Amino acid sequence: MSDCIFCKIIDGSIPSNKVYEDEHVLAFMDVAPLTKGHTLLIPKQHVKDLYEMPEDVARNLYAAAPKIANAIKKAFNPQGLNTINNNGAFAGQSVFHYHLHFIPRYDDSDGLKVRWEAKNGEFTPEQLKAIAEEIKTNLNE
Ligand code: AMP
Ligand code: ZN
Repeated sequence: MSDCIFCKIIDGSIPSNKVYEDEHVLAFMDVAPLTKGHTLLIPKQHVKDLYEMPEDVARNLYAAAPKIANAIKKAFNPQGLNTINNNGAFAGQSVFHYHLHFIPRYDDSDGLKVRWEAKNGEFTPEQLKAIAEEIKTNLNE
């Protein structure tokens, strides 16, 4: 896609600090890292978000994910690692070429908030069952 910044990183017209590349995916440093080692993993095929990702692209992308995670772990020994993917502007997506963030966690000072208070009792068991059914009927296999 000609006006996509990540497609330009793939074709080399925009520079990046690459950490891994194969036929299907590219991993490179986030230009504005939240923590040391913050890495992005992207498919080489231009896919806007998870909704539009074909199964083979997903398979090839996630096949590389443990490699990236383990390399970051070996390099910097963080206390933890969050992998995050934002879909849609409302969810925080700012680049519309799918990317999976690898954010190593060293301490609480990075400001990343991904935990939430469990809302016990928000949905009844019957409601949960009905919600699951609604999703199930929308699977298009
Ligand atoms: P998101 O907000 O989830 O869409 O994440 C987009 C990420 O891409 C942000 O963390 C940006 O810092 C990062 N980013 C934007 N432009 C570049 C670039 N040219 N090279 C590397 N990372 C970039
Ligand atoms: Zn793209």
